[in-house]
Parts: sequence; structure tokens; C-alpha cells
Amino acid sequence: PDPHQVPDRPHARLTVLSGPTAVGKGTVMAEMRRRAPDVWISVSATTRPPRPGEVDGMHYFFLTPERFDELAGSGQMLEWAVVHGRHRYGTLRAPVERELAAGRPVFLELDLQGARQVRAAMPDAQFVFLAPPSWEELVRRLTGRGTEGPQERERRLETARGELAAADEFDHVVVNDDVARATDEVLRLMGVPAHVNE
Ligand code: 5GP
Repeated sequence: PDPHQVPDRPHARLTVLSGPTAVGKGTVMAEMRRRAPDVWISVSATTRPPRPGEVDGMHYFFLTPERFDELAGSGQMLEWAVVHGRHRYGTLRAPVERELAAGRPVFLELDLQGARQVRAAMPDAQFVFLAPPSWEELVRRLTGRGTEGPQERERRLETARGELAAADEFDHVVVNDDVARATDEVLRLMGVPAHVNE
């Protein structure tokens, strides 16, 4: 039997949302936080410093590199990765297992490396790829402000091309044409009702 699927609560399962850089994963997660209080959204650990307005324990657990390594080294991270070649991000294992055992739907927003690690550890979880409406739109979101030089721009586009190809590895593809609509679709896949906006 699948330990991540509670038989008498069929919707109590793990859902992972991933996708290319700049597709809007964070925005969909924020929308989900607002609209679906029944979903338990994992708070990631990170070594990146907080941005203005970010609260420790709410947006992230902000850890020193030493503390992060200690947790990762002792198997307390379900997955972790270096994102954008800089800071480490990871999912603490214990809270995820606690919530799944309690029968709540669990949601993780991860970069592609993290999603692949969870797939290896928990193949029965549900994997959702958030895709841009078109390649042109992703290019626009990636290079938006046009502050990067042509070399940096080319590097980002190359990365994005590889990231888009990863869609094949996922159970579902949701197009982020509109945040509210895309969030509804993810919630439908999770079997969770979306609450009406106030
Ligand atoms: P930001 O620094 O903008 O908050 O997040 C940067 C990236 O880190 C996002 O693309 C997000 O998908 C990824 N990320 C956030 N939390 C985790 C995590 O726990 N594990 C992994 N692998 N990636 C994460």
C-alpha cells in the first residue's frame, strides 16, 4: 500500500508544483494560500537572506549555511537543491510526513531539481508542471526588464529551453495564462475545493 495515500481520505496526498524559472510558481502558491486554507503548504528552508517583508517561519525558514548543512547531512531534508547557482533551498521532511499522516493535502512548490528528488523518494505523489502560455511569453517574462546583457540573456534562454523540455516528466501540465484559473486547475487536480474570493 502507498503510505502517502490515506485510504479513507482519498485526497490526502502530496502534490508537487514545479516548472521553468519565471513561469509564476510563487504567484500560484500565494494564490493557493489565499484560496485554499485546507491545503497544507510546506515552508521551505533556505540560506538566502530574507527580502523586505519576508517573515521567518512564514515565507521561509531562513537558515545559516551551517545549520542547513547539518539538517541536510542528517537526512532531515526530503529534498534540497542549489537554485540559480547560488543559495540552497530545501524541504524539511518531518512536517511533510506529519501532515500526510494527519490526512491533509500537502503542497510543495519546488524547482525542477527538487521535484526530481521527490519523485525518486515518493513516486506516488502527484507532479504538476506549470507551463507558460507560449515560448514567446516565457522569453518576455525572463528578459522583461532587459537589464541583462546579450550573453546573460542567451544563458537564461538556454536554461529555459531545457526546463521546458522537463514537462514530459510530469503527470499534469497546467498553463499559467491566468493565476486564478491556473490555481483552480491545480486545486481540481488535488481534489480540493477552491474558496470563493471575498
Ligand atoms: P526565491 O528565492 O525567489 O524565493 O525562490 C527561488 C526558487 O527556489 C523558486 O524557483 C522556487 O521554486 C525554488 N524553491 C523554493 N523552495 C524550494 C525548496 O524547498 N526546494 C527546492 N528544490 N526549490 C525551492
